[in-house]
Amino acid sequence: MSTPAGPDDGPRPVDVLTVVSTTQVTPAVRRVTLTGSPEAVAAAGPTLALLVPRVDDPAPRWPEVARDGRIVWPQGSHGVSLRSYTARRQDPATGEVDVDFVLHGDGPAATWAAAAVPGAVLAVASAAPLGDAPAGWLLLAGDETALPAISRVLAAAAPDARGIALLEVAGAAEEQHLAHPPGVELRWLHRGDAAPGEAPLLADAIAALDRPEGEDLFAWVAAESATVRAARADLRRRWGLGRGQHHAIGYWRRGRAMSPAG
Ligand SMILES: Cc1cc2nc3c(=O)[nH]c(=O)nc-3n(C[C@H](O)[C@H](O)[C@H](O)COP(=O)(O)OP(=O)(O)OC[C@H]3O[C@@H](n4cnc5c(N)ncnc54)[C@H](O)[C@@H]3O)c2cc1C
Repeated sequence: MSTPAGPDDGPRPVDVLTVVSTTQVTPAVRRVTLTGSPEAVAAAGPTLALLVPRVDDPAPRWPEVARDGRIVWPQGSHGVSLRSYTARRQDPATGEVDVDFVLHGDGPAATWAAAAVPGAVLAVASAAPLGDAPAGWLLLAGDETALPAISRVLAAAAPDARGIALLEVAGAAEEQHLAHPPGVELRWLHRGDAAPGEAPLLADAIAALDRPEGEDLFAWVAAESATVRAARADLRRRWGLGRGQHHAIGYWRRGRAMSPAG
């Protein structure tokens, strides 16, 4: 991360980012544009361990980060929850980071994003890669929470990459513009009245795909955890994908908060 360790090599402070503006991207997705020091912005992504303060707490007590990356929480009540998000865009030149929050109606992060106004703050404890790898043929699959990551994977793909992106959203109003190589098909899947994480759309769509023959493959899947488990098992068994050929990770769990630290 951006802030160097102190002279005693003890825990370092987290990077605090301030809200500049918010945009309603779709009815269920709110983009929060944040700013911070150029170093903090450069380090803030693509995957983020966000520290989200309670909306009714004017003075969150931030944790610190130990040399080994462990988060050192303050004693007692601190009013901060740890959640994973993706920087959809980070631009050290303008000093801005965009994070797209799904307003799923519950939980500290969704609540914070729904209430975010310019001047509000959150913090970044650490960042990590997206887990993708270059390949000639890409299978990308995810729900609304994965669209920021999928947009970055598509933006980083070779112009001649081929493949398919299976994108589960509630309906047409939740579709977003995603720049993509012309050889990668975007296929939007609408779950309609089904609750998020309850429709087997993504797993079924993957199960209906035949393994492309003779291709250098990589599969990237992120959505509700049970969906991802089913997709991962299918891709390993039917497509014979090895560890280096896929990244499949549960981004949220139906009925469960995502972080014990929150
Ligand atoms: C690496 C990574 C990157 C991620 N990137 C993003 C991102 O860019 N944007 C984004 O919106 N999310 C992203 N997520 C998912 C996000 O971390 C979870 O949705 C998280 O649970 C939200 O925290 P919360 O405090 O709002 O809800 P929590 O306190 O974790 O959960 C409260 C309740 O809400 C439910 N819930 C959580 N998420 C959803 C959802 N999406 N739909 C319906 N119900 C839900 C839970 O099942 C639980 O019952 C990412 C996750 C990971 C692991």
